[in-house]
Amino acid sequence: MKSKLPEVGTTVFSVMSALAAETGAVNLGQGFPDFNCDPLLIDAVTLAMQEGHNQYPPMAGVPALRSAISTKIQQLYGHLYDADHEITVTAGATQAIMSILLACVHPGDEVIVIEPAYDSYVPAIKLAGGVPVFVSMQLGANGYSIDWDQLAAAISPKTRLLLLNSPHNPTGFVLQESDIAALTRIVQHTQLLIASDEVYEHMVFDGQRHESLARYPELAARSYIISSFGKTYHVTGWKVGFVAAPRALMTEFRKVHQFNVFTVNTPMQLGLARYMAAPQPYLELADFYQKKRDKFRAGLENSRFKLLPTHGTYFQCVDYSAISQKSESEFAQWLTREIGVAAIPVSAFYHQGHESGIVRFCFAKQDATLENALQRLQAI
Ligand code: GLN
Repeated sequence: MKSKLPEVGTTVFSVMSALAAETGAVNLGQGFPDFNCDPLLIDAVTLAMQEGHNQYPPMAGVPALRSAISTKIQQLYGHLYDADHEITVTAGATQAIMSILLACVHPGDEVIVIEPAYDSYVPAIKLAGGVPVFVSMQLGANGYSIDWDQLAAAISPKTRLLLLNSPHNPTGFVLQESDIAALTRIVQHTQLLIASDEVYEHMVFDGQRHESLARYPELAARSYIISSFGKTYHVTGWKVGFVAAPRALMTEFRKVHQFNVFTVNTPMQLGLARYMAAPQPYLELADFYQKKRDKFRAGLENSRFKLLPTHGTYFQCVDYSAISQKSESEFAQWLTREIGVAAIPVSAFYHQGHESGIVRFCFAKQDATLENALQRLQAI
């Protein structure tokens, strides 16, 4: 059969998690917590099932959950999305991204991708018939940044959509107000749509705030905002997320969504809605992960790894060029097999071959797991 994605293999996350399991390595590769969620959330979902909420919910999602999402966005970012027409619950952020691209991108349309980029973006663009146009982040003394002049230069009459991600996986880059100003200037005289992947919205460190595009009416008017309960509530395996967008954009999104998954499982949606009715400790989540970041960084401070800055997400990138000249993929494999700590090569987030001697660790782990990994990494 002629492949639609000839260059695609199995995702690096599956490959590295399988290798970690096979070798017994501490898995700091694939991004997921190794601790459980709040038992109250499990109770809320269990109760919903016991009450018999086990059949199809409405296509766009359980109304109580859409309403809770709308309230949350308004409280945090000051933008009111109409829960009936402007919010849809999705099967994680991955399905949201796929459906946005299928809804917006016509064959031959260009989509701007900022590299390094989450690995689902480019295959999703291609399946939609689009053409990815790459803009590389710059790596300087203060970590990664976006060169907005380069991004502006990448826009052509064929550009349909820009895919943005902040806080950024894998670099930990976080959009600043100055980035928002540059972005606003660039898009204001265009028809460009934006898909803003904000799944790590509550993991922003050092007192900074998350610059959701929902805060900025001019940008919100052309944006799909994407988030994931998997990250926020430590339940990546539940695969529940959402999209918020102005009504006209959401209408097109739902046309695809209804034939892509139709809808998302009822009891988890209802459980999440009831759980969200209580005050939410989003600030505590940033604090919780900042402590883990600081612990992990402190442990590597005197090692041969060079730590890159991490302002958000639960990922830490390190430069290993003082240790090895192996390719990132070979180094990640070596680290897993020989040192017993799995990592993700950052080259997996590039699409035209890019090696910079950097791998990514996930620090969403119990302190004991981090300590175990640190002991092994310090010994290199
Ligand atoms: N987003 C997670 C990561 O970056 C992995 C998700 C997945 O396995 N597809 O590690």
